[in-house]
Amino acid sequence: MTGTEHDTMPTEVCFKARCSECDARVELTADQLRLAVGAGPKSTFYSFTCPDCGEHVRRPAGARIVELLTDGGVQAMRLTLHQGGARRQAGSR
Ligand SMILES: [Zn+2]
Repeated sequence: MTGTEHDTMPTEVCFKARCSECDARVELTADQLRLAVGAGPKSTFYSFTCPDCGEHVRRPAGARIVELLTDGGVQAMRLTLHQGGARRQAGSR
């Protein structure tokens, strides 16, 4: 066996997205994508800056997309809502 060749699989994953501004199909790395996960589907979205037109694009993300993106290394930002009465402190029983 000649095991001299490095098996370097590119760890960088490319995501294909469509710009809603200029309609360009763009490829983005996990670095260029931002994911915001809110309490519901309406507040869950991913965003990126279109390399073509420079617009900031925000698109809704379903559960499947969220999984796909986080799997690919996109940082998910959890938008947690502060609900009334949720200010319990640890050890205050
Ligand atoms: Zn664009």
